[in-house]
Amino acid sequence: AQDKRESLYVLSAWAGKFFVEQLWKSEMGQVIGLNYFKERGYREDIIKKFELGYSPEEWTALVDKAQEAGFHPDYLAASGLAIERDDKSLYDRFRGRVMFPIHNLTGRIIGFGGRTLKTDKKVAKYVNSPESEIYHKSDVLYGLNFAKKAIMEEDNCYLVEGYADVLSVHQAGVENVVSSSGTSLTTGQIKLISRFTKNVTILYDGDEAGIKASLRGTDMLLEEGLNVKVLLFPDGNDPDSYVQTYGATAFKDYVKSHQQDFIFYKTNILLRDANNDPIKRAEVIRDVVESIALIPDEIKVSVFIRECSSLLDIEERILLAELNKIRLNKAKKA
Ligand code: ATP
Ligand code: MN
Ligand code: MN
Ligand code: MN
Repeated sequence: AQDKRESLYVLSAWAGKFFVEQLWKSEMGQVIGLNYFKERGYREDIIKKFELGYSPEEWTALVDKAQEAGFHPDYLAASGLAIERDDKSLYDRFRGRVMFPIHNLTGRIIGFGGRTLKTDKKVAKYVNSPESEIYHKSDVLYGLNFAKKAIMEEDNCYLVEGYADVLSVHQAGVENVVSSSGTSLTTGQIKLISRFTKNVTILYDGDEAGIKASLRGTDMLLEEGLNVKVLLFPDGNDPDSYVQTYGATAFKDYVKSHQQDFIFYKTNILLRDANNDPIKRAEVIRDVVESIALIPDEIKVSVFIRECSSLLDIEERILLAELNKIRLNKAKKA
């Protein structure tokens, strides 16, 4: 089993090199792939650092080259780089896409994300490697290998949605940034972050999906004992589009001035939807207290209850009563 894992690492590294070579050396790679990255505003040093690549628009470009290089078909299938047909023949999973290799903590490639260059809505925007013996999605954060040092230095981790966000934010000089890349945040990913810092700032997309994911992510982070701040980007922007539109300095200023403690963030978001309906307002209060109830640290709980009380203009004892009710219910369920 150890041998098999090692072989998958070697194959993934080889494939990473293959995609990089295609990007820089092949005609299509340069004209289509490299050009695409440059048009998105990525500098060459960043493209190289993150080992971005290009997969040829052919059915067996990688499969053929890999077999020539001596890789066994079983490993090509097991890595997810190739897909097996009913007749056992193999074809490339990634075709005509710009490639984002996914690294583990020690910097070895364990999987890939590939973005289409087509604007056709029927084509999946991203195709990702499937789970394999070296790629367990729920325990991987994209960019963590490049971010871990900065996360420790800053004692904070920025959490974004996608590959492009990690690249642009990193390029802007904010290197303590990682993404869960498509999967919703998992406990395993949170445990990974908490090895380096207890402070997370969520920078998800400023759309409905991003807001929903930020609320869910907040609760999970709180439950694991982390401190959570959230920042919402304006008008459907994501961190990548914000940096690329307004520049690195504006981005850093925006992050500094607009990040909110989770309790302000959540309260504002929910109140916005509640208008002035008193019943909905009551729901908001309960909802916010539910998040506070997840926090394992009693001192923090009492601080947030106080904050919530002044924010929503409700007596602390009412919030505490609600908190106890929620805890009692949870104890019953457990
Ligand atoms: P881009 O800026 O390149 O358009 P994005 O990162 O802003 O991409 P989102 O739609 O916000 O894309 O999605 C966030 C992340 O979710 C992506 O980076 C990718 O990891 C994942 N994702 C998006 N679409 C898909 C898909 N069709 N299949 C699998 N994963 C996806
Ligand atoms: Mn999104
Ligand atoms: Mn996005
Ligand atoms: Mn984007």
